Amino acid sequence: MAKATLEITSGNVPTRETGTTKKVVKKKIDDYPRWPDDPAPMRFPLPLTLKIAGFIIKNKLRRNPKFAQVLQLEPLHTCNLTCTGCGRIREYSTSLKDVLPLADCLAAAEECDAPMISICGGEPLIYPDIEKLVEGVLRQGRIVYICTNAMLMRRKLREYLAAETIRRPDYVEATTKRLIKEDLITEKEAEEIKKGPKDSSKPVISPSKWMYWNVHLDGMERTHDLIVEREGVFKECILAIRMAKILGYQVATNTTVYKETDMQEIEDLFSYLGTLDIDGHTISPGYDYDAAKEDMRKRLNIDPDDFFLTRAAIIKKFEKIEEWSRRFRFFGTPIYFAFLAGKRDLTCSAWAIPTRNIGGWKGPCYVMTDAHHATYADLIKNTDWERYGVVDGKARDPRCENCMMHCGYEPTASLGLQSKSGDTWKNIAFNFGSLPAPEPRGAQINPFNGVSAGNGHLTGHKDAVNG
Ligand code: SF4
Ligand code: SF4
Repeated sequence: MAKATLEITSGNVPTRETGTTKKVVKKKIDDYPRWPDDPAPMRFPLPLTLKIAGFIIKNKLRRNPKFAQVLQLEPLHTCNLTCTGCGRIREYSTSLKDVLPLADCLAAAEECDAPMISICGGEPLIYPDIEKLVEGVLRQGRIVYICTNAMLMRRKLREYLAAETIRRPDYVEATTKRLIKEDLITEKEAEEIKKGPKDSSKPVISPSKWMYWNVHLDGMERTHDLIVEREGVFKECILAIRMAKILGYQVATNTTVYKETDMQEIEDLFSYLGTLDIDGHTISPGYDYDAAKEDMRKRLNIDPDDFFLTRAAIIKKFEKIEEWSRRFRFFGTPIYFAFLAGKRDLTCSAWAIPTRNIGGWKGPCYVMTDAHHATYADLIKNTDWERYGVVDGKARDPRCENCMMHCGYEPTASLGLQSKSGDTWKNIAFNFGSLPAPEPRGAQINPFNGVSAGNGHLTGHKDAVNG
């Protein structure tokens, strides 16, 4: 991949207009990959934007009142981490060994016909058919996000390289040399890669303009390792991201904000991630799952009130979100960001981001479970949508009171369900606008700020939460 160098000189340099001198900051960012094939990259690639826009227009023309925009597909709930606050591994703790058959996963995507499929879990890279699932969904013409904690990601990247030895041995030779030099693989791993695939009939996850790795990152090293309850996870995420970018994948990150989240740290994290050429970020406030709250009390001796945010606290935490969305490569809509900043009121449209898992179609939403339905049509028909969400400041269901999550409110914004004049233009300007350039300050930030105490919240207990 071609490189671009961002270099800002310092000291007194002559200006073209006046011939006088002007003081500028001196910083140098070593060459990092940019978008060599696209001279004016957009915030979200044009073909993907057009695909989603076409899908929305098609459904609006058909006067279809409720349709799926993103499917949250959970092929399993097994995970190799035990993050504090994770509702999934707790709610489905009795069925962690179960998996959703590949055919059912692909049928779910077909049935709801969402243009974007977010494969999550659990940890989706543990799913035995993950390669076939990604390939199948791409063949259906949908955009794929693999939401991962990144612990198995480099293994999948090595498998891809091994498969490439058949087609492009020279590329693999040169790339493995670079990866060794950058400490992203070992000499032994390089040798294994060069032997080729163990099973050449097995598909691999290859780079695609229609696919993103979506890496979970809740803060810099200390905070992230604390939340995921294991040391070394943050470092592994960064190694996996760097390796994926070298191999030409698109990589996004997703961040959840809790009460203990230091928003200055998150701002610094986004600045730093800019230097890694990350393609996009999503950020959302955490949700206080009942199962996660119970686990917190019992296992960690943490008061959930010290961990989860109220609606007022979310608005305070997200007061800079609109500024960030202009500075960093955020995915989303300006309307949802204004909602998070407390400047807009939106109601929930959870039907647009349904969840399909081993239990069925989870209703009413990604976070709450009142029923599992056999089909997406059943979910839509048999859910009393008027019972949920917050309207005019009043929670229709007490469990919705502190929810401002992307899975409920982002579609309201992106589908223009409560639009005001000027909203369409704001959305177009944001998504068709140019991609924000990495900030020079990112190169000055060291995210490796020390590991957490042992297994994070497992050993940090209240001190970790408060300090
Ligand atoms: S990595 Fe994801 S699924 Fe696994 S425990 Fe953490 S939040 Fe839950
Ligand atoms: S407001 Fe939140 S918790 Fe309530 S239904 Fe919507 S997404 Fe679910």
